[in-house]
Amino acid sequence: MTSQFRTGPVEVGALAPKDDMRPVFRFAPSPNGYLHIGHAYSALRNFDMARRRDGRFILRIEDIDTDRCRPEYEQAIFEDLEWLGLTWDEPVLRQSEHFSAYAKAVEHLQERGLLYPCFCSRLDISRVVTDRRDWPRDPDGGPLYPGTCRHLSEEERARRIASGQHAALRIDMAQAVGQIGQLLGWPEYGEGEDVRDIHAEPSLWGDCVLARKDIPTSYHISVVVDDARQGVTDIVRGKDLFDATSLHRLLQELFDLPTPRYHHHDLLRDPTGQKLSKSTRAKSLRALREEGVTAQDVRKRLGFS
Ligand code: GLU
Repeated sequence: MTSQFRTGPVEVGALAPKDDMRPVFRFAPSPNGYLHIGHAYSALRNFDMARRRDGRFILRIEDIDTDRCRPEYEQAIFEDLEWLGLTWDEPVLRQSEHFSAYAKAVEHLQERGLLYPCFCSRLDISRVVTDRRDWPRDPDGGPLYPGTCRHLSEEERARRIASGQHAALRIDMAQAVGQIGQLLGWPEYGEGEDVRDIHAEPSLWGDCVLARKDIPTSYHISVVVDDARQGVTDIVRGKDLFDATSLHRLLQELFDLPTPRYHHHDLLRDPTGQKLSKSTRAKSLRALREEGVTAQDVRKRLGFS
């Protein structure tokens, strides 16, 4: 039971229209590059499912990483989605304008005693784990945090902060899971109407970072807060985010937020089998457009009429 730790639900504030019972789907790109055909697939899946379920479709700009995100990429998102024939409910939420909402969520975790400052650099961490080939890794392949800063005394933390050392905030995963005290899961839709219950395993992420010195939040915090306050009922996104959902379920539970339904769709791959991504320089939708490919061609290739 969690009662002794309860500080009340985190106040996320509703941004969804009241009394609108329609399901809500969202496409939530980050404007750190141009959209490619994998994004088109995800956006079209959301849009198509929203239509078929008489739902709403919203667009959210996930630009918390203000160093890497650019206005021209954001503008290109609007143009590319319009080109594909998509329309979305206004207003569009831009996450960089909502840091205070994410700060409240971070504070909530602090009040529950679930965050601690970590002063380790990547190098510090790799020094600890390098000699251990079997060191456990998180689902993204990074080494699980060895816990170096978890047991620093309050005095030591204060001393380091006062001396100007920057700290990231990590979740104390064992404590968080202990406070929830029950197994978590989520309903996962298959390709059709079939639904499976998936068992969440947040511990796979260890004591991961939930806020940084340069970005006072993280993808995990802001996505969970915004999905809740925008009333998102159905989260349709690529299988690359399947394991992140375990962590999102833990945060939703800690914040006392509802559990959405999920569908993690297959990822589009290049001929070598690699997942399409901005970092592997997948061809952008605008490059295809310049080559004379039409929106209809793209939709057809992706299986949408
Ligand atoms: N902003 C994330 C991305 O562009 C997607 C987040 C999500 O769908 O949960 O990869």
